[in-house]
This record gives sequence, C-alpha cells and structure tokens, in this order.
Amino acid sequence: MVNTEYTEVLVRYGELSTKGKNRGVFINRLAHNMIDVLSDLPVKVTANRDHAHVILNGADYNVVAERLRKVFGLQNFSPSLKIDANLEVLKETVVALFNNIYLPNMTFKIQARRADHSFELDSMQINQVLGDLIFDNFDYAKVQMKFPDITLRVEVRSEEIFLSYETIRGAGGLPVGTAGRGHLMLSGGIDSPVAGYLALKRGVEIEAVHFASPPYTSPGALKKAKDLAGKLTVFGGSIQFIEVPFTEVQEEIRDKVPQTYLMTLTRRFMLRIVDKIRELREGKVIINGESLGQVASQTLGSMEVINAVTNTPIIRPVVTMDKLEIIELAERIDTFNLSILPFEDCCTIFAPPNPKTNPKLNKAEFYEQKLDVEGLVERAVREIKIELISGDRENLEVASNEFANFL
Ligand code: ATP
Ligand code: MG
Repeated sequence: MVNTEYTEVLVRYGELSTKGKNRGVFINRLAHNMIDVLSDLPVKVTANRDHAHVILNGADYNVVAERLRKVFGLQNFSPSLKIDANLEVLKETVVALFNNIYLPNMTFKIQARRADHSFELDSMQINQVLGDLIFDNFDYAKVQMKFPDITLRVEVRSEEIFLSYETIRGAGGLPVGTAGRGHLMLSGGIDSPVAGYLALKRGVEIEAVHFASPPYTSPGALKKAKDLAGKLTVFGGSIQFIEVPFTEVQEEIRDKVPQTYLMTLTRRFMLRIVDKIRELREGKVIINGESLGQVASQTLGSMEVINAVTNTPIIRPVVTMDKLEIIELAERIDTFNLSILPFEDCCTIFAPPNPKTNPKLNKAEFYEQKLDVEGLVERAVREIKIELISGDRENLEVASNEFANFL
C-alpha cells in the first residue's frame, strides 16, 4: 500500500515577511506560539527564514490544522506528504493521491520544483511525466493552467520529495508577543474577551487581570473568567491569569462614597490597580472592553474622569463597535456562550441604581480623600494570584498555580 497520509505541514508566514530586521524575532515568536498550541501532540516544529514545518509524527492532521488555523501570524499552510526522492515511488504516490481526490472532469496542473539537481528529471520533465500519468489513469482529466481544480505541488529535494495539493488560509495578524505585553482587564462579560482577541491579533501578548470580590462574587464567576482566558489561548498560546482581590476596595467605596460616584471611583481603583500590576510585570499598555456609550461608565465624560488616574496608554479595541458587531465576533471566537452564563460580576453586584454619566474629576478626587487610596491599591496588588492558563483543549488544563512572587 502506498502511503497517502500527510506527514507534515508547510507553514507560510504572514505580514511579518515585510518586517525586515525584526524578521528573526517574528519567526521565533511564531514558532514558539505554534509549539505552545500544539504542545500536547507528538509534533515537531521547525522554522527557517522562509517557512516553518510541522512534522506530524503520527498526530492527526485535522487536529493540527484546526489549531494552526487560529494562530496569528500565519498566512497560510499546506499539508504535505514526504516520500523518497525516487521516480517510481513518486509515480505510485501521485496515482494513489489522485485516486483519493480526483473526481470526473476535474482540471489539474502539476507544479514541480527541483531544488536539488541530482534528481533524474528536471522540473519540466516531472510536469510532463506526471501529467501523462494522470491522463493514462484518469479518464477525461484535463490540464488547465489558470485556476485548475487541483494543483499538485511537487518539491524535489536531495533525499526526499514533498507533495501537496491544498492550501489553507491562516488567521493573518501578527504573532502574539511581537508587539510586546499588555494587561487585559478581563471581566466575565461579552466585550472584554473580544477586546483581548483583537489585541492578540496585532501581536500583543496579554496577561488577563480579573477583579473578584468574594463572597459577593462566586467561584463560578472566577472560573468563567479563567475559561474565557482559556478560549483566548488558541490564538497564540498560554496566558497568565491574574486574580485581584477587590472586596476590600468595593466595601470601602460602598461605605464611604455617595452612590452616584460609586461606579466612577470603583473604575478608577480598578485602573490604578491594573496599572500597578502592569508596571510590575513589564506591560506596555492596558486593554479593556469599553464600548462608547454602552453603559454609564463608558460615556466620554466618564472615560475622561476614570482615565485621569494614569498616563499609561489604554487600548480599547471595541470602543467604536456596536453591541451586535461585538457579539458576532464573540460568537466567531467561541466566547459568547461562556460570556452569557449568568454569574454576577463584581461591578454589577455593587452597581448603584443611578450612576453618574457625567462625573466631575474634582468631585471624584474629593471623595477619594476619605479613602486610603494607596493602601487599598497596595494591598490588592500584594495579594494577587497568578495562574498560567495553557490551552483550550478538550478540557481546560491549568498548568500551574503559583502565587505572586515578585513583591
Ligand atoms: P464586558 O462585557 O467586557 O464585561 P461591559 O459592557 O459589561 O463589558 P463593564 O462591565 O462596564 O462593561 O466593563 C467595562 C470594562 O471594564 C470591561 O470590558 C473590562 O475590560 C473591565 N472590567 C469590568 N469588570 C471587570 C472585572 N471584574 N475584572 C476585570 N475587568 C473588568
Ligand atoms: Mg461587564
């Protein structure tokens, strides 16, 4: 029996091809990310200047393809079949392959490339010999140069020949990590996972920061946020999940601040805490899921007052998107069904009936004078818990559970 199963996948790089000097960094990062998302499979990943290869080593090609399709920085990939550089083997395999894929009246083209000149035929001759072989074995087969139904690529090297006939489109974008690190404010809602996805797409490595207020918020709400982070690992690999204990801050605000400014102050604290964590963990930006006008905290007036606690750049990838557009994306990246699970978020539990949509900075600062702002921020940051979320596989695996050890 002639083997027609794929043995490896040839991966072509995306936008990074244009990145001149940074090419090495891009390629390394992409290889690293591919290894991460494939880490539970027996595959071997190698990357050179022009392509990467994933040697399947017996792994199921369909599983590998499904994973590769989502990794940012990949333009496209072709599964291929490696055989010995031997004309008889080549002919046998090509006939067997066409037996699998050829349907009556299909058009085809053979595209041979001889990288090593020791092979007995040159590219033109290979095209001719294989073309004739197809004519002899398959009735009505027709050659067509432009847009044939099947393009069989034959790449001849010194020891081996690679055959491929499919090209699968990749996710595009930039390899996660090539743009540096940012801290994603990840709630259990619909918007922030989508914001995270969009930041990943442009190469930002994200660490997810989640505010939890036990016992007001449940372990289920925390698990949901971790599962959402898990969903985001398919685009570029494992994600650090940082849980911030937020109960003390929320109780203090509830007890000492007028209801109308509760939401504004809560958000200002969140931002201060994320910013501190970002600084300690060497992030360059903060990312959140704010969408203009969606709720009281997301008016321009609110954003201005909340944003005033930091100069750190804040990326708001969904800020101008309508809710329906965000939902569409959430469905596409498979976070929507998780996001709509009914767990109370720390912000909804303490939500006042009538938050200010147009708060004043001087008032916010005035109310904060009643609070030990620095102490509250410091204690929250000191007690964060960090966990590496590695992969949204069959079941979400949590690789390690380490506590913050940098303080
Ligand atoms: P989302 O669907 O992302 O929760 P939302 O429309 O519900 O967004 P808000 O709850 O007002 O909006 O939150 C605005 C943004 O603030 C969120 O997108 C998220 O980035 C951040 N945020 C809110 N709650 C939390 C939380 N508990 N932990 C971390 N970040 C949060
Ligand atoms: Mg929310």
